[in-house]
Amino acid sequence: MQAVNSLSEKTRHYLDLEDKYGAHNYHPLPVVLSKGSGVYVWDVDDKRYYDFLSGYSAVNHGHCHPRIIDVFVQQAQQLTLTSRAFHNNILGEYEEYITRFFGYEKVLPMNTGVEAVETGIKLARRWGYEVKGVPANRAKIIVCDQNFHGRTVSVISFSSDDSSKRDFGPFTPGFEAIPYNDIPALELALQDKNVVAFLVEPIQGEAGVVVPDEGYLSRAAAICKEANVLLIADEIQTGLARTGKMLACDHEGVRPDILLLGKALSGGTMPVSAVLADNEIMMTIKPGDHGSTYGGNPLACKVAITALQVLVDEQMAENSRIQGAHFRKELTAINSPYISIVRGKGLFNAIVIDRPNKDAAWEICLAMKDNGLLAKPTHGDRIRFAPPLTITRPQINECVGIIKTSLERF
Ligand code: PLP
Repeated sequence: MQAVNSLSEKTRHYLDLEDKYGAHNYHPLPVVLSKGSGVYVWDVDDKRYYDFLSGYSAVNHGHCHPRIIDVFVQQAQQLTLTSRAFHNNILGEYEEYITRFFGYEKVLPMNTGVEAVETGIKLARRWGYEVKGVPANRAKIIVCDQNFHGRTVSVISFSSDDSSKRDFGPFTPGFEAIPYNDIPALELALQDKNVVAFLVEPIQGEAGVVVPDEGYLSRAAAICKEANVLLIADEIQTGLARTGKMLACDHEGVRPDILLLGKALSGGTMPVSAVLADNEIMMTIKPGDHGSTYGGNPLACKVAITALQVLVDEQMAENSRIQGAHFRKELTAINSPYISIVRGKGLFNAIVIDRPNKDAAWEICLAMKDNGLLAKPTHGDRIRFAPPLTITRPQINECVGIIKTSLERF
């Protein structure tokens, strides 16, 4: 743990405020940020850092991307929220844009990622009863061990993480977990005729950037199709150019039946999520069946159109692919005895720390912070490296230097 007295007065002031008045549901690194631009953030003492978390991949475009902020400000001065009780002049434009962009017939707009997941679950169940013909209340959804899909009661009901479940029961039934990256386990699970969907992260982000074997997703998609089971891809963290393609599913030419997006869909400015599917699935939902006050608000819609367009115009997927490969090569070349694994795709990467000390990853993150790079451990021994997708090769090289120096401190 970093000694609290090594922190500035100002930093301590903000930490104390949060400690006293805020719920203790997070364990942040002791740094208080007040400004961001591109790949950089600054703390309240004006110290600059590379941001290697990017708001859990919500800030793929870099902090305060000028085109996104311009559109945000313009639309904020025009019209921000109508609710869906009335139409607004941006929603239809956005719906046309995003459905064409990803090649689906319909979109259902929501706000946070977990709302998109909940929506996907509801859609799959409704489709199961009305189209597939599953008997009432018997629909089952297959999920994977070590998944992370958010924090609502239904979604934690199928989490394998004890700390996110303890004393939050009773849980929602209708889910069965199988090992990730295990096609025979999926084949077996799909023998149950009441299975309506397989919900999967193309790469498991929160689990520590766990990349499945090549061919896993395409094989999973094929056997889901054979079994008349919907493939729901949670691309909330892996999507939008993070892994070196617009979607992580694109690496294997997979088109999920239900696509879940969130996080970077607003370039990190506000919660915007989306569920994409074709009419056979989406039209099972009728007026009043599902919704959200803020879902599809004109500010979110305008910002999302721009965020998607900026990804294309600035070739962020391509940059993610190129800089990501370079980053992994350089990280591997550090050849540190503390790093047991370097893994990832595009600019979605992690290292696994090989130390008996259970705080080692946390301490390495504190050392990197002192040296000007922010990253956060996950599951104790894994550190995710996911900088904004605008990062350049010289910046990557500088960051590898910071990581190396920080490891050498041990
Ligand atoms: N799904 C995945 C794969 C995620 O990584 C996350 C958040 O980290 C979520 C869903 C939940 O998103 P939110 O925190 O916006 O509800």
